[in-house]
Amino acid sequence: MTCGSEYAPGLRARGFRMTPQRMAILHVLHHSGAHLSPTEIYKKAHRDAPSLTEPTVYRTLEFLEKNGLAISSQVDNRKLVYEIAGRNHHHLSCQSCGASFEVQPEALDGIIRRLEKSSGYRFINSHVTFFGICPKCQKNKSKKGD
Ligand SMILES: [Zn+2]
Ligand SMILES: [Zn+2]
Ligand SMILES: [Zn+2]
Repeated sequence: MTCGSEYAPGLRARGFRMTPQRMAILHVLHHSGAHLSPTEIYKKAHRDAPSLTEPTVYRTLEFLEKNGLAISSQVDNRKLVYEIAGRNHHHLSCQSCGASFEVQPEALDGIIRRLEKSSGYRFINSHVTFFGICPKCQKNKSKKGD
């Protein structure tokens, strides 16, 4: 459970210390491999760091994002969720039921390269969420329409 120590040098390079709270939260993000809401992160991290409070989790997540260790996104209904940085991927999210799927980065590689060419930008951390209606919800809707 000391995977947090692998993030310590990055923090130190920016002049910050690794604290038990940051460690516990990074550990949760590192192993989940998914998006978690601050409340979910709080519940999991609390086990390793009992002194952790929910407001601290919010503050720490903002801190980690600012320092490039975590990224946030709005997946379902504008709810902010967090995940560990450095996993290249995108999302499909259903606006009706909130189900979300990961999209492999290769699916967008060509588009991103073309965008970079035409805009002159260099994208560093592109993390895109597409909103739509999943197949299940489409089916339910058409049933109701009959
Ligand atoms: Zn760990
Ligand atoms: Zn993501
Ligand atoms: Zn759905």
